[in-house]
Amino acid sequence: MISKEVKPKRGHLFIISAPSGAGKTTIAKAVLKQFTDMLYSISYTTRKPRAEERDGVDYHFISKQDFKKGIKKGRWAEWAEVYGNYYGTSAEFIEKSLSSGCDILLDIDVQGTFQILKHYPDSVTIFILPPSVKALRKRLEMRGSDSKAVIEKRLENARNEMAQKKMYRHIIVNDKLSAAIEEISAIFKKYRK
Ligand code: ADP
Ligand code: 5GP
Repeated sequence: MISKEVKPKRGHLFIISAPSGAGKTTIAKAVLKQFTDMLYSISYTTRKPRAEERDGVDYHFISKQDFKKGIKKGRWAEWAEVYGNYYGTSAEFIEKSLSSGCDILLDIDVQGTFQILKHYPDSVTIFILPPSVKALRKRLEMRGSDSKAVIEKRLENARNEMAQKKMYRHIIVNDKLSAAIEEISAIFKKYRK
C-alpha cells in the first residue's frame, strides 16, 4: 500500500512595523502572551543590547563581521541598516517555521517588510502609528534608552516610515495600549481561523 504523505498546512506570516517608540515591542509581547503557539522571529542585530535586553530572547546580538558574513552566505531573508546598525531576519527560521505549519510574527522595519513581501506576498502586514509625533517624542524620552541625538534621528526616520504606511494591509493607532492590543488580536484571529 502506498501511504500518502500529509503535508502540514503552511503557517501565516505576520509583520508588524512602527516608527521606533510607537510601542511595537510592548504590543508584540502582550499579544504573543495570548497566542502562545505563535513563534516570534528573533532578529539578529549588531546594535548593543539595552539594559533589560537579553541575548537570544529580544535579539541575537552579533558582531558586524558576522552579520556581513551572513549577507554573503544568504543567511538573511531580509536585512537593513537602521541608525548605523544592521538588523536581519533568519531565512532558515522563516522557512522551517512556515513549512511546519507554524504562524510567525516578525517585528521589522519598512525596508525589511518591502523585501519580505517580494518572497512572501501573502504576509499579513500591520503598521502601528503613534497618536502624534509629539507623543512619539515623549515615549522615546520616557523609555530613557537613547541619547538626545539618537532620539532626533529616530524621529526623522519615523516621519519617513510613516509616509510609507500605505504599503501595509492594516494600520493601527497606538493611543490607548489595551485598545491597540485588542485590535491586533482581532487581526490575528481573523487570519488564523
Ligand atoms: P518600540 O518597540 O516601537 O520602539 P516600545 O514598545 O519600546 O516601542 O515603547 C516605547 C515606550 O512607550 C515604552 O516606554 C512603552 O512603555 C511606552 N508605550 C507603549 N505604548 C504606549 C501607550 N499606548 N501609551 C503610552 N506609552 C506607551
Ligand atoms: P530597535 O533598535 O529600537 O530595537 O529597532 C530599531 C528598528 O529596527 C525598529 O524599526 C525595528 O522594527 C527594526 N528591526 C528590528 N529587527 C529587524 C530586522 O530583523 N530587520 C529589519 N529590517 N528591521 C528590524
